Amino acid sequence: MKREAHPENWLQVTGQGLYCGPGDFFIDPPRSVERAVITHGHADHARPGHGWVLATPHTLAIMRTRFGERAGGRLQALDYGEPRRLREVTLRLVPAGHVLGSAQVVIEWGGWRVVISGDYKRQLDPTCQPFEVVPCDVFVTEATFGLPVFRHPPADEEIARLLHSVDLFPDRSHLVGVYALGKAQRVIALLRRAGWERPLYLHGALQPLCRLYQEGGVDLGELHLASGVAKGEMAGEIILAPPAALSDRWSRRFPDPVAVLASGWMRVRQRARQRGVELPLVISDHADWDELTLTLQEVQAGEVWVTHGSEEALIHWARLHGIRGRALSLIGRGEEEQEQEQEQEEPP
Ligand SMILES: [Zn+2]
Ligand SMILES: [Zn+2]
Repeated sequence: MKREAHPENWLQVTGQGLYCGPGDFFIDPPRSVERAVITHGHADHARPGHGWVLATPHTLAIMRTRFGERAGGRLQALDYGEPRRLREVTLRLVPAGHVLGSAQVVIEWGGWRVVISGDYKRQLDPTCQPFEVVPCDVFVTEATFGLPVFRHPPADEEIARLLHSVDLFPDRSHLVGVYALGKAQRVIALLRRAGWERPLYLHGALQPLCRLYQEGGVDLGELHLASGVAKGEMAGEIILAPPAALSDRWSRRFPDPVAVLASGWMRVRQRARQRGVELPLVISDHADWDELTLTLQEVQAGEVWVTHGSEEALIHWARLHGIRGRALSLIGRGEEEQEQEQEQEEPP
């Protein structure tokens, strides 16, 4: 392992995001570039218009669904675990447990192994492959929930709270705010696991990606468009919609809906109150504090690079555990909430 081959010298933060010199590609660049490796389909990682894109087959399918023709010039699929030579580096994608198709990027060059984890979580998610631990020299991580106050309860318990509320208020509908990619399908799958067999009702903006998951073999049960159902028939039913739809005109068609929001941020009571959420569910597709620190221990990297979020706290923790920390402060990350809310417009 040569010192001059240290990843700081060949994996650099640029205005276009992380750039790997010896492989000549960017990872999750915020603007269109010639060569991009994409970790997953969320809008703060996958952008349209790259010349060449390498990603998992599911991530490419998600990009095609979202961007159509603009998904990229040449789309190259790489299955999990399959090594690929890109110029001088060897690269492989391994599951990140975040959303369908989400991957960590493992890059090897000059005797060093770097893992760029993208977004990830360690909690159970029936809709995607679980996070795989890859020991490495440098681990690149996000820290969206990188404070000890963030501890996500098991998602099953949060779903049980939702079903309890449905029992308590049979005359009301439950309107659950979920992001279109990942959260919607995970909440649906968890409801099915908890024994909810009735049809679930969707805002139109959630339909294309739910369909993509179903085509990818994820069982979501019977789904209907909420707009096709008569107003009076929604008592006792569960409806899923993008978070912004909870407070807009669209939601007024349902009988006295209970406003529910599934997000890691629901741990912050004030956020729930501000948004008029009656039943906050702490369900996140990002690692909480315990998952972040567990992962740092398991990958045994001597160095951790933190892309965004609560960088200082995690770097401080790393230092106390003999791990060198570095804040990358990548721009435009962690905006999944805002980005996806812009996509909530329902087709007419
Ligand atoms: Zn994400
Ligand atoms: Zn992200």
